[in-house]
Amino acid sequence: MSNQQELFDVTIIGGGPAGMYTAFYSGLRDLKTKLIDVNPELGGKMLFYPEKIIWDVGGVTPIQCRQLIDRLKLQALTFDPAIVLGEQVVSMDRQEDGTYMLTTAAGNKHWTRTVILAIGYGIRKLAKLEIEGADRYEISNLHYTVQELEPFRSKNVLISGGGDSAVDWANALEPVAAQVTVVHRREEFGGHEKNIALMKASSVRVCTPFTVSQLHSSGGKRIEEVTICHTETGNTERLVVDAVIVNHGMRSDFGPVRDWGLDMGERNVNVSEKLETNLPGVFAAGDFVNYGSKVRLIAGTFTDAVLALNSAKLYLDPEAPKTAYVSTHNERFKEKNKALGLLKS
Ligand SMILES: Cc1cc2nc3c(=O)[nH]c(=O)nc-3n(C[C@H](O)[C@H](O)[C@H](O)COP(=O)(O)OP(=O)(O)OC[C@H]3O[C@@H](n4cnc5c(N)ncnc54)[C@H](O)[C@@H]3O)c2cc1C
Repeated sequence: MSNQQELFDVTIIGGGPAGMYTAFYSGLRDLKTKLIDVNPELGGKMLFYPEKIIWDVGGVTPIQCRQLIDRLKLQALTFDPAIVLGEQVVSMDRQEDGTYMLTTAAGNKHWTRTVILAIGYGIRKLAKLEIEGADRYEISNLHYTVQELEPFRSKNVLISGGGDSAVDWANALEPVAAQVTVVHRREEFGGHEKNIALMKASSVRVCTPFTVSQLHSSGGKRIEEVTICHTETGNTERLVVDAVIVNHGMRSDFGPVRDWGLDMGERNVNVSEKLETNLPGVFAAGDFVNYGSKVRLIAGTFTDAVLALNSAKLYLDPEAPKTAYVSTHNERFKEKNKALGLLKS
């Protein structure tokens, strides 16, 4: 069966920043590369906060997240890797010759000499509002992400949640919406202190400790009113709304990955300082990995990607240099620099 498939040197599972940067670096090291992600587009968790401004990536001045995704994508495609989107890898089987056969939920096979796991915390799904029938409003005015602020202009917006995103969206919507109300089941909010203080000092109405207990609609198409319930006294209040945004965090699920024989904890895989997993030819990068000094930020994914890929390169070719030549000395960029008009000869 194996020889009917095209064999790749490296197959990256996961198209977040770790996977995308690994794809770039793998091409830089002359490896035949494939990247598979279950989502229909690249970006990983960054797709959950497209409008957020990112300040903490070295060398990149404040940038909207969706623009940073675009830059990462462009960089990932530099050496034309094969990109497979919309497929969840459900099994990873080692063949007799040491190669791996990956199978996706759709039954497609992907044959590879090494695997880089860049799967974050698994497949992330937004936690839904646990009220029966709430899903019917998802096509009208019940939102789990905010793609644009403009649709909320001059609206009465209720945000349910008390984490980073809820506070961020309350502050972002406050100057745009007619009224923002934040409903949170605890007194304390998560997120940055500065943002919480900003929210509390603004016109945002903060209702704590309350939960959303009922949605009301006269025609069954749009939420018109929401009942909120005090978590201690049980007292209720009914609020008129134009839109409801739910930020109850995300649930992640590794699914069948737990059956692949990896040395995993609850949320991560244990790796060596060379980003090797316990399985031969299988390496990992990004939020998925666990080692002493792991940094769970976009910037941290880049170092992981380089380390994991260099380990894969040496696994495939033990005589290869330990790391790629830096851009300034790398032959692979000579033609590309010329094309960019950055080098005369
Ligand atoms: C709200 C929020 C705000 C943040 N803000 C910042 C910030 O300002 N600065 C910063 O540096 N970091 C920030 N982070 C953290 C940053 O997003 C993560 O550190 C980063 O996305 C990790 O990248 P990753 O590639 O390791 O994993 P992810 O981005 O999680 O990507 C993993 C990918 O793997 C895919 N996948 C998983 N399992 C499978 C499978 N079996 N088959 C196929 N595909 C699979 C997933 O669909 C996903 O696309 C923020 C995170 C959140 C949630």
